Amino acid sequence: MWLQVFYLCLSCLALSNPSQAQGRASLRRSNDHAGRCQYTFTVASPEESNCSRISMKPEMEGVMSRLTVLEALVSRLIAGGDGGEGTGLGTNGEEVLQRALSQVTGEREQLQQDKERLNTQVQELQRRLDELSQEAESLRQKPCQQTHTSGGTPRENRPASDPAYDVGNGAYQEMKAEVTEVPASHLMPGGNQNSTGCGELQSVGEPVLHRKADSITGKYGVWLQDPEPQGPDYTNKTVWRIDTVGKDVRQLFAYEDMAQFSRGFPMKVLLLPEPVESTGATMYRGSLYYQRRRSRALVRYDLASESLASRVDLPHAGFHGQYPYSWGGYTDIDLAADEQGLWAIYSTQKAKGAIVISKLDPESLEVRKTWETNIRKNTVGNAFMVCGRLYTLASYTAPNTTINYMFDTATGNGQAVAVPFKNMYRYNSMVDYNHALRKLYAWDNFHMVTYDIRLGRVSHGSS
Ligand code: CA
Repeated sequence: MWLQVFYLCLSCLALSNPSQAQGRASLRRSNDHAGRCQYTFTVASPEESNCSRISMKPEMEGVMSRLTVLEALVSRLIAGGDGGEGTGLGTNGEEVLQRALSQVTGEREQLQQDKERLNTQVQELQRRLDELSQEAESLRQKPCQQTHTSGGTPRENRPASDPAYDVGNGAYQEMKAEVTEVPASHLMPGGNQNSTGCGELQSVGEPVLHRKADSITGKYGVWLQDPEPQGPDYTNKTVWRIDTVGKDVRQLFAYEDMAQFSRGFPMKVLLLPEPVESTGATMYRGSLYYQRRRSRALVRYDLASESLASRVDLPHAGFHGQYPYSWGGYTDIDLAADEQGLWAIYSTQKAKGAIVISKLDPESLEVRKTWETNIRKNTVGNAFMVCGRLYTLASYTAPNTTINYMFDTATGNGQAVAVPFKNMYRYNSMVDYNHALRKLYAWDNFHMVTYDIRLGRVSHGSS
């Protein structure tokens, strides 16, 4: 490489003296009488077939001194970076080399970025592959026993994989289960005693287990109750669940109440018109809100009419692995409902990965207002909204972690907080808030749990 650069310098030198015939110039290197290395540069004059030594000497000295300068330059460049490509012969050798060097440096940085991006993709694919392998293994081991009919009413005996209902005919299929009335669940006690008003999050209680999924498709997902149900079909007791493991997630399970949910079979399965991405869906005012797979499109699915009510792109939102939570899993866009309305938690290129919060119109899904925080989305395990304030979870795996940051949309200010939080099963893929019941809902490694929360001093501005 040194030689290549050196010959390039010689070419520059030759071009800078156009009166000399390039083809006849030569450089020789040999030991002198004293044994030291000596460079001899020979060039023919266009006007004289021979010349005296006296008249050649100043020219030779001039050439040699320029060679020395070039050698020093080349050494400096070699020491400073790995140039290696001559991109053309300019009139100034230094400029040419500098350009070549900066081009190569730029390409090297680009390659480094590509490598990091590809590494991330490989890790994500590896994770998905592991999950699918487990899923395949699980399905292989379970027999295909499903339906027993009883008086014409299909009844499920806990299918091998809970959501594995047959929807192969394209249209959705309802599953009516035989439901035994059970007294109101002890799991959701007392209704809403402390909902006297909004305030800051003071504490989060112990996780209360309601259900454990028994197949790989239930490793992570979304489960919720609608804090403000609409219409007669569904109530605030109805429990909703989506298993989000898999490529084409479209099934929404409805359970009569928490008792039925805990027992395991749904009263109804709805087939969503668009596939669901990840675990950021939420339930609010009779609609399921979710992110469409592999896109920044937000979907509102109306539960009463069982149809798509709105679909709008969330402007500039990163998706499908651009700005996920630390868990990954394409958790780029997280939807949340609280006392003040519907929110999207996400990030954009402009925000450089920091969490962005947008207040959404619940009907049209249009953005009403946006706030930019200064906490990076990929450093936190999850997030949720309470009383117009964003809270982030420090870790999705640590059994004893904290809610570590709060951003108040009323003031536009964020601050560090430290509210203890337990990931009892050490793989928390979803945390969402239900303001009617003042509870957090979470899906922690096959386990569907709730947490009671306590809010502090009453603040103004809540509805
Ligand atoms: Ca969330």
